[in-house]
Amino acid sequence: MVFVRLLCGAGALTLSACMVVPAPVPAPDLPARPPETGAKPELAASLVIDRPPQDFPHGGDARSAEEIDLIVVHSIGGPTCRDGAVFFTPANGSAVFWRDWFLGEGGKSIHYVIGREGDIAQQRPELLTAGHVSFGGIMTMVNRRSIGIELVNRGDGIEAFPEVQITALKALVAEVAARYGLPPEALVTHAALDDRMQPDCGGEPLRRNLDPGPLFPLEDVRAAISAQ
Ligand SMILES: [Zn+2]
Repeated sequence: MVFVRLLCGAGALTLSACMVVPAPVPAPDLPARPPETGAKPELAASLVIDRPPQDFPHGGDARSAEEIDLIVVHSIGGPTCRDGAVFFTPANGSAVFWRDWFLGEGGKSIHYVIGREGDIAQQRPELLTAGHVSFGGIMTMVNRRSIGIELVNRGDGIEAFPEVQITALKALVAEVAARYGLPPEALVTHAALDDRMQPDCGGEPLRRNLDPGPLFPLEDVRAAISAQ
């Protein structure tokens, strides 16, 4: 049984200002890494991806393909506390817009961003680490071993993920998982990795990372990996 509660901004009068907050998720049981399959660092040509120039200063630490055993899905939006109320930013913009936003960020980075129209942009090559999961959560060293994917979405549990966006995500994760020999369970959400709470927002504790949120079809996307 899954327990949920409604999380509303202080003084909110309408249900649309609330979101369903799932109970804290235990750390996933990750499968043992399968035998090496000769992973290649390049994506299939059938995926259309906007990439920065090869000589772009990407940042991050070099790593080997053998270190990668997780794919972490995020949403751009997430809960913040403003004036004692839970607030979600609109997260408007395309994949390229948000990729370029990450390029200008000093502390945050990501491998891929997928827009609401299924558009895909890459910020960082897969064999460079990206800073998309803080190390204070359930698992450590997640950034070292994972590929991070951001979905452009408010992450509020109200905005649905368009089918074309999920289709693009499925194509990307199926292709990535095949190259690194990853099973469906290697695909995890940020929320499953980090259950830290902000002690007080308007008198209530606030779960810091809920993304990509309760509307994200995790098992459907995992099935795209198992179907390959
Ligand atoms: Zn996240």
